[in-house]
Amino acid sequence: MARVHNFSAGPAALPECVLREAQTELLDYAGSGMSVLEMSHRSATFQSIIDDAEASLRRLLGIPGNYRVLFLQGGATLQFAGIPLNLMRTGRAGYLLTGNFAKLAWKEACRYGEAEVLATSEDTNFDRIPNLEAAGERASRNDLDYVYICQNNTIFGTMFSELPPTGATPLVADVSSCFLSLPLEVERYGLIYAGAQKNAGPAGVTVVIVREDLIENGPARADICPTYLGYQLQAAKGSMYNTPNTFGIYLCGKVFRWVEQTGGLTAMEARNRAKAELLYDLIDHSELFHGTAQPTSRSIANVTFRTDDANTDAAFIAFARERGIEGVKGHRLVGGMRASIYNAVSMESVEALATCMRNFEASWSP
Ligand code: PLP
Repeated sequence: MARVHNFSAGPAALPECVLREAQTELLDYAGSGMSVLEMSHRSATFQSIIDDAEASLRRLLGIPGNYRVLFLQGGATLQFAGIPLNLMRTGRAGYLLTGNFAKLAWKEACRYGEAEVLATSEDTNFDRIPNLEAAGERASRNDLDYVYICQNNTIFGTMFSELPPTGATPLVADVSSCFLSLPLEVERYGLIYAGAQKNAGPAGVTVVIVREDLIENGPARADICPTYLGYQLQAAKGSMYNTPNTFGIYLCGKVFRWVEQTGGLTAMEARNRAKAELLYDLIDHSELFHGTAQPTSRSIANVTFRTDDANTDAAFIAFARERGIEGVKGHRLVGGMRASIYNAVSMESVEALATCMRNFEASWSP
């Protein structure tokens, strides 16, 4: 069986060893005589699966004891509402608009309170992370319930290389596409969350890591917050207010342990930077391909590039597919190509893509 070089933005490549292990356990998990797919979420066996997943994640990220870890459903998108409903206590928050998902989160927050735009790079189609100083100054005035960022912008291939200085105002970050790509200082955030389907596991699990004091009084908008979305309740119920995505959490736990076994987040970051540098270096020296993100804002998870002509882009994507390279079509908001080089994408796959780009360029005649 030949596996492709998978550069999809999410759902995305998972470590093959994790998939194989899940395959061997599919019919009989740890001598239980049943699949995790068939197991009650109230069983002791599943409780140990979710406990082990959380413990592994806590070790990986060094999550302090005063932060709660939730495994929720509804994708990252449901948290666009969950965040204001839980945290907008005075009704005012600041948003940095660095891409489509940040903008969607901001629009959703506008339904529940005053969501102020602190900075945006929309004027240049989100090709950069805007200047953070003004946003930081505004945030440190201290009358915002939180400041919201999307730390890695999956569609536009940009990433915050430093966090906005928000003073005592809690920082809330969507880290969906850089989660477990690199270490995070959890104590610098009030809340971080990630849809699992890039680096952490399959679609259908969203990890929320939130500082306890921000949720201990229940949702800010308890009048309208759906019970399911109440972080305090979900924390009290161990993410099992209702039936969680049991199989998804089980797979996430396996991915967390794989990250631990392969050296943890510092080693992961070094590998991801090496993969990204290989592609950016090629792009910077190419006559044909151009990067779409400004160099100082470039992501180490999603590398976006294009040629000057949509037909040439399409020809390259077809050329790549013939060589077992999948998922490099860019998002329609940027066009061109995007290589998502998450943790499970090996250097060998990135080298295969680089060779393919060089060969295409060599055979290309304008
Ligand atoms: N935030 C980011 C950074 C994403 O990349 C995505 C999806 O790709 C989302 C949010 C939305 O996630 P979901 O489809 O899980 O709701």
